[in-house]
Amino acid sequence: MSALPNKARVVIIGGGVIGCSVAYHLTKLGWEDVVLLERKQLTSGTTWHAAGLIAQLRATANMTKLAKYSQELYGGLEEETGVATGFKRVGSITVALTEERREEIYRQAAMARAFGVEVEEISNERVQEMYPHLNLEGVVGAVYLPLDGQGDPANIALALAKGARQRGGLIKEGVKVTGMAKDGSRVTGVDWTDEDGNSGHIEADMVVNCGGMWGHEVGRMAGVNVPLQACEHFYIVTEAIEGLTQLPVLRVPDEHAYYKEDAGKFLLGAFEPESKPWAVDGIPDDFEFDQLQEDFDHFEPILEKAIERMPLLAEAGIHTFFNGPESFTPDDAYHLGLAPEMDNFWVAAGFNSIGIQSAGGAGMALAAWMDTGEKPFDLGDVDISRMQPFQGNKRYLEARSKETLGLLYADHFPFRQKATARGVRRTPFHQHLLDQGAVMGEIAGWERANWFANEGQKPEYEYSWKRQNFFDNVAAEHNAVRNNVGMYDMTSFGKLRVEGRDAMAFMNYIGGGDYDVPVGKIVYTQFLNSKAGI
Ligand SMILES: Cc1cc2nc3c(=O)[nH]c(=O)nc-3n(C[C@H](O)[C@H](O)[C@H](O)COP(=O)(O)OP(=O)(O)OC[C@H]3O[C@@H](n4cnc5c(N)ncnc54)[C@H](O)[C@@H]3O)c2cc1C
Repeated sequence: MSALPNKARVVIIGGGVIGCSVAYHLTKLGWEDVVLLERKQLTSGTTWHAAGLIAQLRATANMTKLAKYSQELYGGLEEETGVATGFKRVGSITVALTEERREEIYRQAAMARAFGVEVEEISNERVQEMYPHLNLEGVVGAVYLPLDGQGDPANIALALAKGARQRGGLIKEGVKVTGMAKDGSRVTGVDWTDEDGNSGHIEADMVVNCGGMWGHEVGRMAGVNVPLQACEHFYIVTEAIEGLTQLPVLRVPDEHAYYKEDAGKFLLGAFEPESKPWAVDGIPDDFEFDQLQEDFDHFEPILEKAIERMPLLAEAGIHTFFNGPESFTPDDAYHLGLAPEMDNFWVAAGFNSIGIQSAGGAGMALAAWMDTGEKPFDLGDVDISRMQPFQGNKRYLEARSKETLGLLYADHFPFRQKATARGVRRTPFHQHLLDQGAVMGEIAGWERANWFANEGQKPEYEYSWKRQNFFDNVAAEHNAVRNNVGMYDMTSFGKLRVEGRDAMAFMNYIGGGDYDVPVGKIVYTQFLNSKAGI
């Protein structure tokens, strides 16, 4: 019989690196009665087979801040817990093969530097010095992050779990959460079954869904929408290569590839442009430390390019062909925070292949949010409340996830639109707008006219880091509205009706602007939280 309590302050569902990090950080804040339930063994879902890259270069400021936190935390975890995490600051290099990519990595570097991340733009000569095996043909720029690292993902998770246990957290393996009890918009507890067939119920003030690729299913138990889909993710590990010694991690996003030296072998991983969704109808119940069937045809184009880029691979035998599942979200950003459907159900799931490097920061941010009820800083990029109900649809998720894995290494141009699972919501004016040359963008599933092409101009984005092709079109539109009259299709905007005697006072309380205007006027302003943040 599992020695499980009847009551807990919080039940965390899932013992991958994310659940362990949430438990670690809640106990660090002094929380007692923290219980983590894992259906099989810790790390047996996705965490155990991760490649272990721990990078700090992210697309936005807050994500960079969180990634930097993870790197710093992992650096001290072994000393704190006594669990060898294999974390080494080997550094990382990202090379650009196009001018556009160079612009992107230089911009990321500038932003990372602003957050105190050590980063250098380096010459091809420096790259060659650090990476003698690399064929530099076509390389037009590179950045180097000396403090980026690599580690053993399973042991990082186990070290976090040990840290949580040392501060009183209870972590139980072989216990599956099978259902949830609710009272209105609160989850009141979880039902569990263990591997010996015992079952029970734990009353809980809060529940956290750290179910990884099961996160969708775990969310459903509470009536919460957690849109994510598992996809196959591939890497190979070579046989030992004579003379291969420690190297920085290398990313060649223009060839969809990353390289990691580990114990004299090379690991080559891929973020191919079109990925393979897996288990669309549900993850098999007995999944535990499993891998998926290899698919050499799918991996071959990446390997061919890699052999040109790293010629010593041509001579190396392949020791392991690995294919493991990982969950991907519709917009390639993970899900964090309070589920909008409930008052006490939290989510940290859908980590889009960066769960190891994100776990430290995500666990820290979620724990702080749960502790105070306020986001510790702007987490809009990952806040689960950005998701729409339709995004939980299986057909939608399957179609979109084919694109999102590859987007990790795509050019992240401003205004870049997703190509898959489009046309979910169309306004009554859709065809009319297309007839006027509208170039559509997607917002919350709505197709929205982002700009209008002129007669003879192709109604398509031409993405760039510089001035994009729609600049003059938008300028003309702007001038027309400013100097004449414009009409906007507002169908895609959310609408709330506030009525009654105190409606004005209420709106003036939550809004930054003054709503006391004559009928027929519009007030454009923000809703503020109690700290005047958004
Ligand atoms: C091939 C590959 C390489 C990768 N390389 C990297 C990398 O280099 N760097 C990086 O940062 N990331 C990498 N990742 C991604 C990373 O592994 C994941 O993002 C991360 O492990 C996700 O952790 P998690 O805790 O969310 O999920 P998981 O590790 O899957 O944990 C979820 C846990 O929830 C448990 N669970 C589910 N349902 C229940 C229930 N009802 N009751 C109790 N328990 C439940 C599961 O058993 C599971 O153990 C890689 C992924 C793959 C597939």
